[in-house]
Amino acid sequence: MDETRFERILVTAALPYANGPIHIGHLAGAYLPADLYCRYQRLKGRDVLFICGSDELGVAILMRALEEGTTPQAIVDRYHPLIRDSFARFGMSFDYYGRTTSPVHFETSQDFFRRLDEKGVFKLKTEKQLYDPEAGLFLADRFVRGTCPICGYEDAYGDQCERCGSSLNPTDLINPRSVLSNATPELRETTHWYLPLGDFQPKLEAWIATHPEWKPNVLGQVPRTNRSARKRPASGS
Ligand SMILES: [Zn+2]
Repeated sequence: MDETRFERILVTAALPYANGPIHIGHLAGAYLPADLYCRYQRLKGRDVLFICGSDELGVAILMRALEEGTTPQAIVDRYHPLIRDSFARFGMSFDYYGRTTSPVHFETSQDFFRRLDEKGVFKLKTEKQLYDPEAGLFLADRFVRGTCPICGYEDAYGDQCERCGSSLNPTDLINPRSVLSNATPELRETTHWYLPLGDFQPKLEAWIATHPEWKPNVLGQVPRTNRSARKRPASGS
């Protein structure tokens, strides 16, 4: 194997949401394999950096705050130290364990975004989305409940009916209401930024082709032309 290819190694593992404590399943699934790999590389004398942190931005945290009648900041301030200390007690050998609300995270992610924007890669699209006029917020799927148009269940989520299992759009619901305020949501126009990943397909495929040593289960996770190219919104709204 070509040793020079491994001179500097950056390892990360999926960031845990700071909306609850971690458990053995978290450790075994994502963190232990990464930790083993880092320890092995360090023993081989290689320059390894193992980075992780609490994900403190997301709908799951807002939901938890609403359930407990507190603020998202109070939730992440409670769970971040708990998660960080649990990892430390289990001996996870992170070189850095941060949080996504730290200034360095904002600066770095905004830098990525600006560089992509300067290159003109984003595509802007205006869509209609449900808006809570009382809370003053656009509503993610889980923040809308109403009657399922398929089975008539009165407490279906905006993305799924838990009684009949149908996948829904929030605008499919009959008598929709906002989970935040109970107000009737209204359709308003909102602009989303999309990163068309399909545009990078040839470049990515050429790069992947330079890695014949990757295991089949790893190659199974990477994009191929025979699969549909997915588009993801660049914003989390
Ligand atoms: Zn239903």
